[in-house]
Amino acid sequence: MEIPFHKEYHFEQELEYVKDAFDIGVTASDGKYTSKAKALLKDKFGFQEVYMTTSATHALEMAALILDFKQGDEVILASFNFPSAANCIVLRGATPVFVDLDPKTMNISPKEIEKNISSKTKAIIVMHYAGIACDMDKIMEISKKYKLPVIEDAAQALGSKFYDKNLGSMGDMACISFHSTKNVIAGEAGCLIINRKDKEWLKKAEIIRQKGTNRQDLINGKVSKYEWVDQGSSYCPSEILMAVLCSQLENFDRINSNRKKLAGVYLERLNKKKYKNYFRPMILPEYANSNNHIFYIITKNKIIRDELQIFLKKHNIGSAFHFIPLHNSIMGKKYGFDCNKLKYTDNLSQRLLRLPLYNSISEKEINYVCDYIDNFVGEQIL
Ligand SMILES: *Cc1c(COP(=O)(O)O)cnc(C)c1O
Repeated sequence: MEIPFHKEYHFEQELEYVKDAFDIGVTASDGKYTSKAKALLKDKFGFQEVYMTTSATHALEMAALILDFKQGDEVILASFNFPSAANCIVLRGATPVFVDLDPKTMNISPKEIEKNISSKTKAIIVMHYAGIACDMDKIMEISKKYKLPVIEDAAQALGSKFYDKNLGSMGDMACISFHSTKNVIAGEAGCLIINRKDKEWLKKAEIIRQKGTNRQDLINGKVSKYEWVDQGSSYCPSEILMAVLCSQLENFDRINSNRKKLAGVYLERLNKKKYKNYFRPMILPEYANSNNHIFYIITKNKIIRDELQIFLKKHNIGSAFHFIPLHNSIMGKKYGFDCNKLKYTDNLSQRLLRLPLYNSISEKEINYVCDYIDNFVGEQIL
């Protein structure tokens, strides 16, 4: 049997919707399916305003433009992160301040956020790793205390909750990804969420997304022709992608409950005393209701992780590490960030291994992966 690390899953109706998008005859942005995707997201997840984008990366870039990050500004984020969060900062000439994580969740540590706030701090970006919520009570408390906007990077976290609140609905802004590796996919797409009723932000978002023009005013019948009014770029996804996304979003509950069941199999099989000298499964804090985007284990050390990955590969089972911490990545070193020691980030990023979890994997296949993990442990001599 061969079990890849990841496989895309598509629904039959996607093709029907795509055909409809073609039949309508305008496959550029902001038609029927963009409106529909937006409405589905707002209704189901309680987001205040949603702007469909070409990626989560672009949604972060829009947020950086709306908040006007500039040279001299500092933006706090976790080093254990995807490069997009840092790119949106450095593209505007501002400085990322990389901080350590909470070892229980791999998410940014609220204490470390507060320690790193200075008079230059402009915003805080918090990423919900694996679909597990950051401690949003503490983070929003810090945000209020220091009057700093919070951007939730919920790229992995559509449908996850912090207690009963949807991730992406609590920060001042948020982004979600519909990249083909995520739970709900459109190939390459994303959205920016604005949860503040701030007229200036909402207007800026419209203009930035539409290549720096007031095209939205034309669409709304407010002007007779549109023109260049501010900085912006091309962040609008094609209707073809939005047609795919609508079908996926309509199946969200099925996707979510399936993944819950699948992750449950991993947890039940791997949360055992006999493994404790080798690894522990990821921890689900009691406040977190996860969309089970990722299932990972933390091995006792890097050697065990690397050997387990080689062992699984030998038996045709895919697995993967995750982020190289940004502060000691090639770019981070170029900026000279690698001199900051981030204790938990440096240590845990080398011990994390992601196991196959996707919409089309079966319980039987997960049990098969767990059997091989069991064999690996059986072969080890401590
Ligand atoms: C996937 C991902 C992104 C990038 O998403 P795109 O839609 O591919 O731009 C950003 N941040 C995190 C945490 C991600 O997991």
